Amino acid sequence: MELLDGKKISNDIKDEIAAEVAAMKQRGERAPHLAAVLVGNDGASLTYVGAKVRSCERVGFDSTLVKYDTDVTEAELLAKIDELNNDNAIDGFIVQLPLPKHIDEQKVIMAIDPSKDVDGFHPTNFGKMALDMETFLPATPFGVMELLERYNIETSGKHCVVIGRSHIVGRPMSILMGRKGNPGDATVTLTHSRTQNLEAICKQADIVISALGVPNFVKAEMVKEGAVVVDVGIHRIADDSEKGYYITGDVDFEAVSKKASYITPVPGGVGAMTIAMLLKNTLIAGQNRK
Ligand code: NAD
Repeated sequence: MELLDGKKISNDIKDEIAAEVAAMKQRGERAPHLAAVLVGNDGASLTYVGAKVRSCERVGFDSTLVKYDTDVTEAELLAKIDELNNDNAIDGFIVQLPLPKHIDEQKVIMAIDPSKDVDGFHPTNFGKMALDMETFLPATPFGVMELLERYNIETSGKHCVVIGRSHIVGRPMSILMGRKGNPGDATVTLTHSRTQNLEAICKQADIVISALGVPNFVKAEMVKEGAVVVDVGIHRIADDSEKGYYITGDVDFEAVSKKASYITPVPGGVGAMTIAMLLKNTLIAGQNRK
């Protein structure tokens, strides 16, 4: 078994981006600028946004954090998005999800200028992705593709089972794996909460990509000997440690890693890649805007 080391690969990507930014600055160009909008005090969201802002510093990007209390109105948020859309100093921005219940997430995503939508969630970008056109790919599936590519994992003609059909992970993941190209060209089965015989389907997979959000769901009995296993899940499980929790994924790592040919750890797998790919999208956005 070999680890698909997202931490290492994401650091390589950040180094590549930092070198690119240094060259841009040397040419007298300004650095790419990412803005992040955060609503409320959800612990996981605060952690993710904090990590995104710190990563901007690491690669030499400019960054802006816009924070709102949970009671911000939808109109206020939409006005801010309009402002960011029209701000020439901002190359790309994200609105950290989930948003409070009184705000329509779809309306918010639709309001983002697709040319600044570095999360790749806008229907224009999602549609372009599905049609094999160049666009911003959603950061998490983009990170999985990059990890498979950098480890030279053969995907062509392989059976890939994706667990979960969310708009930000499972669905785009299934599209990307089925697209022409490398990685890609896989035969994809997209499974979800209504899928029957998931265990048997999963066992046929050469590549399993788990994004359902249930800790330790994927057991050794569900995985074929030699399969590639990608664990997108991230869970905080309360414990007695100083932090008060530990992080685990959707996959029973200990048992599944004994059968897998390659497997992503959690933490240090897909999660680390997501931020690197957001930075990559922001770099592209900055270059496109020149
Ligand atoms: P979601 O809740 O939006 O979607 C979960 C999907 O799993 C749904 O489509 C549902 O049909 C399916 N599902 C639920 N129970 C199932 C079951 N028993 N069998 C088969 N399918 C089932 O979740 P999401 O936003 O896609 O996130 C999934 C996981 O990935 C979460 O743990 C989340 O924290 C994590 N995540 C990680 C990253 C990252 O950077 N690594 C990014 C986004 C999400």
